[in-house]
Amino acid sequence: MDFTLSEEHNMLQRMVRDFSQKEIAPVIKEYDRKQEPIPFALPRMGELGILGLCFPVRYGGQGMDYISLGLACEELEALDTSLRVAMSVHVGLCATTIFQWGTEEQKQKFLIPLAKGEKLGCGAFTEPGCGSDVSAIRASAKRAGDAYILNGEKMWISLASKADYALLTMRTNKDAAKPSQGLSTFIVDLHSPGVTSGDIHGKLGVRAGSTGWINFQDVRVPLENRIGEEGEGFKITMSAFDHGRYTVGSGATGLLRAALEASVKYSQQRTTFGRAISEYQLIQEKIARISQDYEIARLLHLKAGWLQNQGERCTREISFCKKFATEASFKAADDAIQIHGAYGFSDEYDVERYLRNARGAIIYEGSSEIQTLIQAGYALGQREDKPLRCELPAYDVEEWQK
Ligand SMILES: Cc1cc2nc3c(=O)[nH]c(=O)nc-3n(C[C@H](O)[C@H](O)[C@H](O)COP(=O)(O)OP(=O)(O)OC[C@H]3O[C@@H](n4cnc5c(N)ncnc54)[C@H](O)[C@@H]3O)c2cc1C
Repeated sequence: MDFTLSEEHNMLQRMVRDFSQKEIAPVIKEYDRKQEPIPFALPRMGELGILGLCFPVRYGGQGMDYISLGLACEELEALDTSLRVAMSVHVGLCATTIFQWGTEEQKQKFLIPLAKGEKLGCGAFTEPGCGSDVSAIRASAKRAGDAYILNGEKMWISLASKADYALLTMRTNKDAAKPSQGLSTFIVDLHSPGVTSGDIHGKLGVRAGSTGWINFQDVRVPLENRIGEEGEGFKITMSAFDHGRYTVGSGATGLLRAALEASVKYSQQRTTFGRAISEYQLIQEKIARISQDYEIARLLHLKAGWLQNQGERCTREISFCKKFATEASFKAADDAIQIHGAYGFSDEYDVERYLRNARGAIIYEGSSEIQTLIQAGYALGQREDKPLRCELPAYDVEEWQK
């Protein structure tokens, strides 16, 4: 078993870290306070190829593997969660799902501009009345000749007001034998007539990110924008969640690392009772746990990335990674604040932002409770991965350079 990262992986980490430290770090506090996205962040990530890392070159990507995506998310969230959330929805929910389930024509039309960062994508599943229970989706798509007419509202959608395209799941059959069988997935141009969107304000965290709602009123979507077959929407949504959760888990690993580095640095500088607080075992216990959790979370995301490279479904492993890393990152941020004492309570230091940012990831892309149900289902033999009509392609180093 070889745990060594390739030179390409190391170069990618350095590039993303450089971008975060030099271009984002100087302004992140300002935008977090203003509760606005950094206007140049996503265009710049597009220019650097970060928005299309793990897609073949012929689809506008960088031809890198899935491990690279996890490493990039770790680096981005080590600076701020808002950058990683953009990866989760643009790359995870939207582009990777088109890569897995889209036709060649759909890849040519939608994946290439997404991978190049020329267009921004989001994933819209949650509604005002349902989040965890995807089968309860009510927003509808009704077939009308060679098109569908969309009506309804999606809520709590990252990049809702910024994205050009939304990959979304709607109800196409309200009389299906099982509610989950009456869903279909579409890629929708958000500049179409009848689409309106807006931002949600007053969020606890991810304040330099964009979260909002999208309303559809008699929006005409051509038949060729349906991803997969009619009735396959539930399965496609679950694939999208696998891709998104992988980025959430690998990203939360970066927040753990940031909390660790901040805690080590501060504890070695701050003295009480004539000694650096890093010398006290009660402080060391917190630092040891954060460093251990970082290591576990990193191994979990690297394993999930490696399994994806082999073309193996890894819903279970991604669930372990997502749940463990998000919960551990929240605890790490809390411990980091404790280590910083009163200064940790102020935005003079970054750790209070880490705590606010870490909280949402325990809810979105499948809450911890939903992850627990998934994991119990596998452990009890009540759940297994059945073959899908379209699987996520395995990484092929030569093929992906074409
Ligand atoms: C910052 C942020 C960004 C988001 N971005 C997106 C996005 O880009 N796209 C998108 O589609 N959605 C997005 N969401 C929505 C998110 O995915 C949902 O909030 C999440 O799926 C939970 O759904 P809910 O809020 O409706 O909670 P509910 O489903 O109503 O659940 C409420 C509570 O009950 C628990 N619960 C539910 N069912 C069970 C059960 N069977 N057993 C035990 N407990 C249960 C849940 O875990 C939760 O604690 C975002 C949310 C946030 C906060």
